[in-house]
Amino acid sequence: MVNELDDIRSEMSEISASLRELLEYEAQLCGGVPLIDIGTVSALGATKAGAMPTEASSAALDTLNPPQPLSTPSLSAAPSPDDVKTRLRILAEAAASCTSCRLQEGRTKSVFARGSTTASVMFVGEGPGYNEDQQGKPFVGQAGQLLDKMIAAMGLDEGEFYICNVVKCRPPNNRTPSPDEAGACLHFLEAQIDLVKPDVVIALGRCAADHLGLVPESGRWRGRWGSVRSIPALATYHPAYLLRSPEQKRPVWEDLKSAVLRLGRELPEPPRRSKRRR
Ligand code: SF4
Repeated sequence: MVNELDDIRSEMSEISASLRELLEYEAQLCGGVPLIDIGTVSALGATKAGAMPTEASSAALDTLNPPQPLSTPSLSAAPSPDDVKTRLRILAEAAASCTSCRLQEGRTKSVFARGSTTASVMFVGEGPGYNEDQQGKPFVGQAGQLLDKMIAAMGLDEGEFYICNVVKCRPPNNRTPSPDEAGACLHFLEAQIDLVKPDVVIALGRCAADHLGLVPESGRWRGRWGSVRSIPALATYHPAYLLRSPEQKRPVWEDLKSAVLRLGRELPEPPRRSKRRR
Protein backbone atom coordinates (compact mmCIF):
# COMPACT_ATOMS: atom_id res chain seq x y z
CA MET A 1 0.00 0.00 0.00
CA VAL A 2 2.81 2.40 0.95
CA ASN A 3 4.60 1.58 -2.30
CA GLU A 4 1.44 2.21 -4.32
CA LEU A 5 0.99 5.60 -2.64
CA ASP A 6 4.63 6.46 -3.39
CA ASP A 7 4.09 5.53 -7.06
CA ILE A 8 0.97 7.71 -7.30
CA ARG A 9 2.79 10.63 -5.61
CA SER A 10 5.70 10.30 -7.98
CA GLU A 11 3.41 10.15 -11.03
CA MET A 12 1.48 13.25 -9.90
CA SER A 13 4.70 15.09 -9.32
CA GLU A 14 5.89 14.27 -12.88
CA ILE A 15 2.59 15.48 -14.37
CA SER A 16 2.80 18.66 -12.34
CA ALA A 17 6.38 19.29 -13.50
CA SER A 18 5.32 18.80 -17.15
CA LEU A 19 2.49 21.29 -16.78
CA ARG A 20 4.75 23.83 -15.10
CA GLU A 21 7.22 23.49 -17.97
CA LEU A 22 4.37 23.93 -20.42
CA LEU A 23 3.30 27.15 -18.68
CA GLU A 24 6.88 28.44 -18.64
CA TYR A 25 7.23 27.60 -22.33
CA GLU A 26 3.99 29.41 -23.15
CA ALA A 27 5.13 32.40 -21.09
CA GLN A 28 8.34 32.50 -23.14
CA LEU A 29 6.38 32.43 -26.39
CA CYS A 30 4.35 35.41 -25.26
CA GLY A 31 7.19 37.55 -24.00
CA GLY A 32 6.70 36.77 -20.35
CA VAL A 33 2.91 36.61 -20.27
CA PRO A 34 1.57 33.07 -19.99
CA LEU A 35 -0.40 32.10 -23.07
CA ILE A 36 -2.43 29.68 -21.03
CA ASP A 37 -4.63 32.03 -19.13
CA ILE A 38 -4.83 30.04 -15.97
CA GLY A 39 -7.27 32.58 -14.61
CA THR A 40 -9.78 31.54 -17.25
CA VAL A 41 -9.31 27.81 -17.35
CA SER A 42 -11.52 26.89 -14.47
CA ALA A 43 -9.93 23.48 -14.08
CA LEU A 44 -6.61 25.10 -13.35
CA GLY A 45 -7.82 27.21 -10.44
CA ALA A 46 -8.32 30.94 -10.06
CA THR A 47 -5.77 33.65 -10.71
CA LYS A 48 -6.16 37.02 -12.41
CA ALA A 49 -6.24 36.95 -16.19
CA GLY A 50 -2.78 37.54 -17.59
CA ALA A 51 -1.01 37.05 -14.27
CA MET A 52 2.01 34.83 -13.98
CA PRO A 53 1.39 31.53 -12.23
CA THR A 54 1.51 31.95 -8.47
CA GLU A 55 2.42 29.39 -5.85
CA ALA A 56 -1.29 28.94 -5.19
CA SER A 57 -2.06 28.30 -8.86
CA SER A 58 0.95 26.00 -9.14
CA ALA A 59 -0.40 24.10 -6.16
CA ALA A 60 -3.73 23.91 -8.02
CA LEU A 61 -1.88 22.38 -10.93
CA ASP A 62 -0.64 19.65 -8.62
CA THR A 63 -4.20 18.44 -8.27
CA LEU A 64 -4.98 18.50 -11.94
CA ASN A 65 -5.32 15.29 -13.90
CA PRO A 66 -4.78 16.20 -17.56
CA PRO A 67 -6.92 14.31 -20.08
CA GLN A 68 -3.80 12.71 -21.48
CA PRO A 69 -0.16 12.72 -20.44
CA LEU A 70 1.82 15.51 -22.06
CA SER A 71 5.25 14.78 -23.35
CA THR A 72 7.62 17.10 -21.50
CA PRO A 73 8.25 20.05 -23.78
CA SER A 74 11.84 21.05 -24.27
CA LEU A 75 12.37 24.80 -24.10
CA SER A 76 14.95 24.63 -26.86
CA ALA A 77 13.25 22.19 -29.25
CA ALA A 78 10.17 22.90 -31.32
CA PRO A 79 7.05 21.26 -29.83
CA SER A 80 5.87 18.07 -31.50
CA PRO A 81 2.67 18.22 -33.62
CA ASP A 82 0.81 16.52 -30.75
CA ASP A 83 2.06 19.11 -28.25
CA VAL A 84 1.02 21.89 -30.63
CA LYS A 85 -2.47 20.40 -30.87
CA THR A 86 -2.68 20.06 -27.09
CA ARG A 87 -1.54 23.64 -26.47
CA LEU A 88 -3.96 25.03 -29.04
CA ARG A 89 -6.79 23.01 -27.48
CA ILE A 90 -5.95 24.41 -24.05
CA LEU A 91 -5.85 27.93 -25.49
CA ALA A 92 -9.21 27.39 -27.21
CA GLU A 93 -10.67 26.31 -23.85
CA ALA A 94 -9.16 29.41 -22.25
CA ALA A 95 -10.75 31.63 -24.92
CA ALA A 96 -14.11 29.92 -24.36
CA SER A 97 -14.18 31.06 -20.75
CA CYS A 98 -12.19 34.28 -21.20
CA THR A 99 -13.60 37.45 -19.63
CA SER A 100 -10.75 39.78 -20.52
CA CYS A 101 -12.87 42.14 -22.60
CA ARG A 102 -16.50 43.19 -23.02
CA LEU A 103 -17.01 41.01 -26.10
CA GLN A 104 -17.54 38.03 -23.82
CA GLU A 105 -20.89 39.52 -22.77
CA GLY A 106 -22.62 38.77 -26.06
CA ARG A 107 -20.92 35.61 -27.17
CA THR A 108 -22.81 32.37 -27.81
CA LYS A 109 -19.60 30.48 -28.53
CA SER A 110 -16.04 31.70 -28.74
CA VAL A 111 -14.52 31.15 -32.15
CA PHE A 112 -10.94 30.00 -32.00
CA ALA A 113 -9.94 28.48 -35.34
CA ARG A 114 -10.56 25.88 -38.00
CA GLY A 115 -8.09 24.09 -40.20
CA SER A 116 -4.86 22.22 -39.75
CA THR A 117 -2.44 22.90 -36.88
CA THR A 118 0.41 22.04 -39.26
CA ALA A 119 -0.82 24.42 -41.96
CA SER A 120 1.52 26.23 -44.33
CA VAL A 121 -0.85 29.19 -44.74
CA MET A 122 -2.66 30.98 -41.91
CA PHE A 123 -5.56 33.30 -42.75
CA VAL A 124 -6.41 35.90 -40.12
CA GLY A 125 -9.73 37.74 -40.25
CA GLU A 126 -11.25 40.39 -38.04
CA GLY A 127 -13.76 38.65 -35.77
CA PRO A 128 -16.69 36.23 -35.74
CA GLY A 129 -20.04 37.16 -37.26
CA TYR A 130 -23.49 35.77 -36.48
CA ASN A 131 -23.01 32.30 -38.05
CA GLU A 132 -19.56 31.92 -36.55
CA ASP A 133 -20.81 32.88 -33.09
CA GLN A 134 -23.57 30.28 -33.38
CA GLN A 135 -21.34 27.48 -34.65
CA GLY A 136 -18.08 28.30 -32.87
CA LYS A 137 -16.12 28.16 -36.14
CA PRO A 138 -14.58 30.99 -38.13
CA PHE A 139 -15.64 31.89 -41.66
CA VAL A 140 -18.67 29.63 -42.04
CA GLY A 141 -21.09 32.18 -43.54
CA GLN A 142 -21.17 33.60 -47.07
CA ALA A 143 -17.78 35.24 -46.69
CA GLY A 144 -16.42 31.92 -45.47
CA GLN A 145 -17.73 30.13 -48.53
CA LEU A 146 -15.95 32.66 -50.71
CA LEU A 147 -12.78 32.24 -48.67
CA ASP A 148 -12.99 28.47 -49.15
CA LYS A 149 -13.21 29.01 -52.92
CA MET A 150 -10.19 31.32 -52.80
CA ILE A 151 -8.26 28.70 -50.82
CA ALA A 152 -9.20 25.98 -53.30
CA ALA A 153 -8.13 28.23 -56.18
CA MET A 154 -4.73 28.57 -54.51
CA GLY A 155 -4.41 24.79 -54.66
CA LEU A 156 -4.37 24.34 -50.88
CA ASP A 157 -5.94 21.20 -49.54
CA GLU A 158 -7.49 20.52 -46.11
CA GLY A 159 -4.22 20.01 -44.30
CA GLU A 160 -2.59 23.16 -45.59
CA PHE A 161 -4.53 26.05 -44.13
CA TYR A 162 -5.57 27.40 -40.74
CA ILE A 163 -8.15 30.14 -40.27
CA CYS A 164 -8.62 32.36 -37.23
CA ASN A 165 -9.49 35.93 -36.25
CA VAL A 166 -8.05 38.85 -34.33
CA VAL A 167 -10.80 38.57 -31.69
CA LYS A 168 -12.37 35.30 -30.63
CA CYS A 169 -15.79 36.63 -29.60
CA ARG A 170 -18.35 38.34 -31.82
CA PRO A 171 -18.47 42.14 -31.66
CA PRO A 172 -22.08 43.41 -31.39
CA ASN A 173 -23.67 44.04 -34.80
CA ASN A 174 -20.48 42.82 -36.44
CA ARG A 175 -18.73 46.10 -35.70
CA THR A 176 -14.97 46.36 -35.95
CA PRO A 177 -13.29 45.36 -32.66
CA SER A 178 -12.01 48.33 -30.70
CA PRO A 179 -8.26 48.63 -30.11
CA ASP A 180 -8.61 47.60 -26.45
CA GLU A 181 -10.67 44.51 -27.36
CA ALA A 182 -8.18 43.50 -30.04
CA GLY A 183 -5.32 44.19 -27.64
CA ALA A 184 -6.87 42.03 -24.93
CA CYS A 185 -7.25 39.14 -27.37
CA LEU A 186 -3.96 39.50 -29.23
CA HIS A 187 -2.03 37.05 -27.07
CA PHE A 188 -4.26 34.23 -28.37
CA LEU A 189 -3.46 35.14 -31.97
CA GLU A 190 0.25 35.48 -31.26
CA ALA A 191 0.23 32.04 -29.67
CA GLN A 192 -1.59 30.58 -32.67
CA ILE A 193 1.03 32.01 -35.01
CA ASP A 194 3.91 30.80 -32.83
CA LEU A 195 2.49 27.31 -32.43
CA VAL A 196 1.21 26.65 -35.96
CA LYS A 197 4.27 28.35 -37.46
CA PRO A 198 2.85 28.67 -40.97
CA ASP A 199 5.10 29.56 -43.91
CA VAL A 200 2.87 32.50 -44.79
CA VAL A 201 0.32 34.61 -42.88
CA ILE A 202 -2.44 36.32 -44.87
CA ALA A 203 -4.32 39.14 -43.14
CA LEU A 204 -7.88 39.46 -44.43
CA GLY A 205 -9.02 43.06 -44.22
CA ARG A 206 -7.61 46.23 -42.79
CA CYS A 207 -8.42 45.41 -39.16
CA ALA A 208 -6.37 42.21 -39.24
CA ALA A 209 -3.61 43.88 -41.26
CA ASP A 210 -3.51 46.71 -38.74
CA HIS A 211 -3.27 44.50 -35.67
CA LEU A 212 -0.61 42.37 -37.32
CA GLY A 213 1.44 45.51 -38.02
CA LEU A 214 1.06 45.30 -41.80
CA VAL A 215 -0.44 48.73 -42.46
CA PRO A 216 2.16 51.35 -43.41
CA GLU A 217 1.92 54.92 -42.11
CA SER A 218 1.10 56.08 -45.59
CA GLY A 219 0.29 54.54 -48.91
CA ARG A 220 -1.48 51.38 -49.95
CA TRP A 221 -1.77 48.52 -47.47
CA ARG A 222 -3.41 45.88 -49.69
CA GLY A 223 -1.01 43.65 -51.54
CA ARG A 224 2.00 44.59 -49.39
CA TRP A 225 4.28 41.99 -47.89
CA GLY A 226 5.68 42.40 -44.42
CA SER A 227 6.43 40.05 -41.62
CA VAL A 228 4.59 38.89 -38.51
CA ARG A 229 6.57 37.22 -35.75
CA SER A 230 9.32 36.53 -38.32
CA ILE A 231 6.90 34.93 -40.78
CA PRO A 232 6.28 36.48 -44.23
CA ALA A 233 2.87 38.11 -44.14
CA LEU A 234 0.60 39.63 -46.74
CA ALA A 235 -2.37 41.95 -46.37
CA THR A 236 -5.37 41.71 -48.67
CA TYR A 237 -9.07 42.50 -48.67
CA HIS A 238 -11.59 40.63 -46.52
CA PRO A 239 -13.92 38.22 -48.38
CA ALA A 240 -16.94 40.07 -46.90
CA TYR A 241 -15.73 43.20 -48.70
CA LEU A 242 -15.41 41.20 -51.93
CA LEU A 243 -19.05 40.16 -51.63
CA ARG A 244 -19.95 43.86 -51.66
CA SER A 245 -17.32 44.85 -54.21
CA PRO A 246 -16.81 41.92 -56.60
CA GLU A 247 -14.66 44.07 -58.88
CA GLN A 248 -11.95 43.81 -56.20
CA LYS A 249 -11.67 40.04 -56.66
CA ARG A 250 -9.05 40.47 -59.38
CA PRO A 251 -6.48 42.37 -57.24
CA VAL A 252 -7.09 39.95 -54.37
CA TRP A 253 -6.44 37.02 -56.68
CA GLU A 254 -3.15 38.69 -57.68
CA ASP A 255 -2.27 38.88 -53.96
CA LEU A 256 -3.12 35.23 -53.42
CA LYS A 257 -1.06 34.24 -56.44
CA SER A 258 1.93 36.04 -54.93
CA ALA A 259 1.39 34.00 -51.75
CA VAL A 260 1.36 30.74 -53.73
CA LEU A 261 4.62 31.73 -55.44
CA ARG A 262 6.08 32.70 -52.05
CA LEU A 263 5.39 29.14 -50.92
CA GLY A 264 7.54 27.97 -53.83
CA ARG A 265 4.56 26.34 -55.50
CA GLU A 266 3.09 26.53 -58.94
CA LEU A 267 -0.26 28.10 -59.52
CA PRO A 268 -2.99 25.56 -60.12
CA GLU A 269 -4.67 25.46 -63.50
CA PRO A 270 -7.62 27.85 -63.60
CA PRO A 271 -10.94 25.99 -63.61
CA ARG A 272 -12.25 25.36 -67.14
CA ARG A 273 -15.43 27.12 -68.06
CA SER A 274 -18.16 24.86 -69.33
CA LYS A 275 -19.07 25.48 -72.99
CA ARG A 276 -22.37 27.11 -73.59
CA ARG A 277 -24.97 25.00 -75.32
CA ARG A 278 -26.21 26.42 -78.56
FE1 SF4 B 1 -11.37 37.13 -24.23
FE2 SF4 B 1 -10.77 37.62 -26.78
FE3 SF4 B 1 -13.27 36.98 -26.13
FE4 SF4 B 1 -12.29 39.37 -25.42
S1 SF4 B 1 -12.62 38.63 -27.53
S2 SF4 B 1 -13.45 37.96 -24.12
S3 SF4 B 1 -10.12 38.86 -24.99
S4 SF4 B 1 -11.44 35.66 -25.95
